[in-house]
Amino acid sequence: MYTVPKLTDFSARALDEAKEELLAAMAVEAGDATDGPALEEFRNRWLGRKFGLVAQVNELWLKAAPGSAKREAGQRVNEIKQRAEELAEKHVKAIAKSILNARLRAETLDISLPGIERPLGVRHPVLRTLDELISVFVKMGYSIAEGPEVESDYYNFEALNFPPNHPARDTQDTLFIANQEQRAQRDRLLLRTHTSPVQIRTMEKSAPPVRVICPGKVHRNDAPDATHSPVFHQLEGLCVDTNITFGDLKGTLDHAMKSLFGSAVKTSFRPSFFPFTEPSVEVSISCPFCGGKGCRPCKQSGWIELLGAGMVDPNVFGFVGYDPKKLSGFAFGMGVERLAMMTYNVDDIQQFFYGDMRFLEQFA
Ligand SMILES: [Zn+2]
Repeated sequence: MYTVPKLTDFSARALDEAKEELLAAMAVEAGDATDGPALEEFRNRWLGRKFGLVAQVNELWLKAAPGSAKREAGQRVNEIKQRAEELAEKHVKAIAKSILNARLRAETLDISLPGIERPLGVRHPVLRTLDELISVFVKMGYSIAEGPEVESDYYNFEALNFPPNHPARDTQDTLFIANQEQRAQRDRLLLRTHTSPVQIRTMEKSAPPVRVICPGKVHRNDAPDATHSPVFHQLEGLCVDTNITFGDLKGTLDHAMKSLFGSAVKTSFRPSFFPFTEPSVEVSISCPFCGGKGCRPCKQSGWIELLGAGMVDPNVFGFVGYDPKKLSGFAFGMGVERLAMMTYNVDDIQQFFYGDMRFLEQFA
């Protein structure tokens, strides 16, 4: 590494030689200073006020020079100092530029690259079907009521007039929460098997008249196959007022089915049984696909069974403190997946729950 030599010869020639040697060393060292810290070191080594090499040159060459050589020596010392400052300055700029270039390279954006695609989501076909159903009844003045999916035996069965030994209460059909043997039967918790408990809860909370629909998820202890799923959705409805008749039930459901499937659709009512309605009916619609001639969705019969319905059993009113002598009403319910399968021509209910994009993308 370069050190400043003491001079014995102060002639112009000797001074120039010493100067050239020093400048050559300085140029090499400046060239090596390629980043901020190295440059700082260069500055300290050469331009440090007390011990820098330029200060040493001042001591050893100028102050030590005999009077006659002072002018010559001073000139060179100044040149050296100026040169050192220039080099430092030049390098600051070069380093700043190289830092900027590195940043620019790192932040380069290739606008010819394909972008990141973020596909828009859409409603699941089951929820879309549910939304359509809801909007039909909302237009008819029904409001929406919701309730818990974990229910008590009382709300799911007892208040809906299920007799104590009704087979629906059997664990074959119902998923009970474990370890509740200590509890009274009516307090035992289960996953609701229908949305009907919401009807009870609604009547408990509000005085008649009542017009609500209860959409939601329900659970059954069913093994999954093409037409069964342990989880599915229902939409139920309840209308209670004075002088509600079976004619109102028929008119309401007929209007709803025509809104959903077109005005050419006919409805048919057949006697049936549910614990919470009396009389009870199964409601079918004329097949909207073949117009009643017979096709695959209607199994060649021309009719598709879609709803259960009936006049609210007076016993149910007794559970919620409504007066069955003054009030009457009807209730109805349907499975949403079944309707979605029909609407979208899906032959396996499990497809709705797999989350397989190849299936779901068809509805986007
Ligand atoms: Zn048909």
